[in-house]
Amino acid sequence: MADPAECTIKVVCRFRPLNSAEVARGDQYIPKFKGEDCVVIAEKPYYFDRVFQSNTTQVQFYNAVAQKIVKDVLDGYNGTIFAYGQTSSGKTHTMEGKLHDPDMMGIIPRIVQDIFNYIYSMDENLEFHIKVCFALYNLSFPSKVSKTNLSVHEDKNRVPFVKGCTERFVCSPDEVMDAIDEGKSNRHVAVTNMNEHSSRSHSIFLINIKQENSQTEQKLTGKLYLVDLAGSEKVGKTGAEGTVLDEAKMINKSLSSLGNVISALAEGSTYVPYRDSKMTRILQDSLGGNCRTTMVICCSPSAFNDAETRSTLLFGQRAK
Ligand code: ADP
Ligand code: MG
Repeated sequence: MADPAECTIKVVCRFRPLNSAEVARGDQYIPKFKGEDCVVIAEKPYYFDRVFQSNTTQVQFYNAVAQKIVKDVLDGYNGTIFAYGQTSSGKTHTMEGKLHDPDMMGIIPRIVQDIFNYIYSMDENLEFHIKVCFALYNLSFPSKVSKTNLSVHEDKNRVPFVKGCTERFVCSPDEVMDAIDEGKSNRHVAVTNMNEHSSRSHSIFLINIKQENSQTEQKLTGKLYLVDLAGSEKVGKTGAEGTVLDEAKMINKSLSSLGNVISALAEGSTYVPYRDSKMTRILQDSLGGNCRTTMVICCSPSAFNDAETRSTLLFGQRAK
């Protein structure tokens, strides 16, 4: 059985390549990589469990970072994988990628495939119940939150929730992909606004696996949260005001609560402030105790994003 003392937190860092706009602008490529666990920016080294260079493929990343967690979840552990970084740093590429493209799919579809391959390979005495849920925690519906008491509302657990998390049982990888596609299209938001919108939401995918052995009556349950966090960029840069600024404050608060929880866990601190945000409350039983937690720090390599990249790297180092 899972042993709470084995709780592990890993932090890995992934750089995307320069995109075409950055190349066209002649942006400088700033990271320098040292060995497998270090990246240097402006002479300062940042260390992680692993650092992935811009040319890392989806399958290489999956094999190195996520594959082991699938085995742990099937062994009855709970786990969480987060992607943290500014908008356009590669979070969704890493977590989802292209859901229906074998080369370009990210870790969620690969995890789902591996889980089902495992199930198909087991003998008939083992019965599996797989439940998934895809939810978007939207931080951008300020109509429900009065500007003067933002923090009170958040403390009372009132982060607006776009669409109820539709839990459903699934029997194949395709059914899981359908659930994700539906979850994404259910957003109450104009399609034109989608990119901007998703950068202000945390998207949370949960897969829950229950195994029952009909002969021994042994039961085992494990669950895995896969979280694509809201963009971590500071607002000053975009000159945000009013609604957008309030929203940015909420995002910052929820991301910093997450950072506090992870660093308390990493330090082995006796007090872990789970209750400081809605998200850490939801994830509580998959972050401490019986858990496997991995934070993926996503970074842009462009000199243009230098300041955000360094603050992202520092966030990741707090968890070490
Ligand atoms: P985010 O979710 O952090 O806002 P995205 O994952 O949407 O960022 O990435 C922004 C763009 O960069 C997308 O077009 C994506 O396909 C591309 N991209 C991100 N990471 C990589 C990578 N490692 N390799 C190639 N392209 C990438
Ligand atoms: Mg995204």
